[in-house]
Amino acid sequence: MGNDSGLLLVLSGPSGVGKGTVCKALRKRMPELVYSVSATTRQPRAGEVEGVNYFFKTKEEFKKMIEEDALLEWAEYVGNYYGTPRRFVEETLASGRDVILEIEVQGALQVKQKFPQGIFLFLAPPDLTELHNRIVGRGTETEESIRDRMSMAKAEIELMDNYDYVVVNDVIEAACDRIQAIITAEHLKKDRQIHKFRKWLKEV
Ligand code: 5GP
Repeated sequence: MGNDSGLLLVLSGPSGVGKGTVCKALRKRMPELVYSVSATTRQPRAGEVEGVNYFFKTKEEFKKMIEEDALLEWAEYVGNYYGTPRRFVEETLASGRDVILEIEVQGALQVKQKFPQGIFLFLAPPDLTELHNRIVGRGTETEESIRDRMSMAKAEIELMDNYDYVVVNDVIEAACDRIQAIITAEHLKKDRQIHKFRKWLKEV
């Protein structure tokens, strides 16, 4: 990726930490931020819309996407597959716009291997009790799924060390402020700017 390409932001963290809610609030504040819509084999939840929340796929369709190398990353999570369509991300970045992926940690680690220049944000819960309450409070999960998601969350928190930033999601708007500050700072990094100044110097 060149200096003028967009930033690849990866927002990751345990299930129930509020990635979706934070992403939604962030998109309201930053309409220029492009959200990558994932493919999944999970059943739609009430109110979820095809192409907006996810591209809902059968297992066969998902496997075909893997075979065709159409996914930038993919992971199996609590019995379902989730993956990021590759072309959309690559084309959006090349057009100079920032893209945000909201994905779980196994996928984030795959993206890090392919795009080490990505910016990896770990959204952390204020504490584990709070995380449990949020997963239960959502009211959409079975007891088994709650147990699986909690044990997955613990394993996911241990992978925090692979990230660039940790954002605690205590209050949604505060978490958004922190993420917005990170995006601003990343755009101001010397390596993203120096080429413009070098060009000017050559011209005078
Ligand atoms: P949910 O079933 O609650 O919508 O999502 C379950 C988990 O899958 C969440 O942690 C969510 O961030 C993650 N996820 C959603 N899309 C993707 C994706 O494209 N790739 C990966 N690796 N994880 C995803």
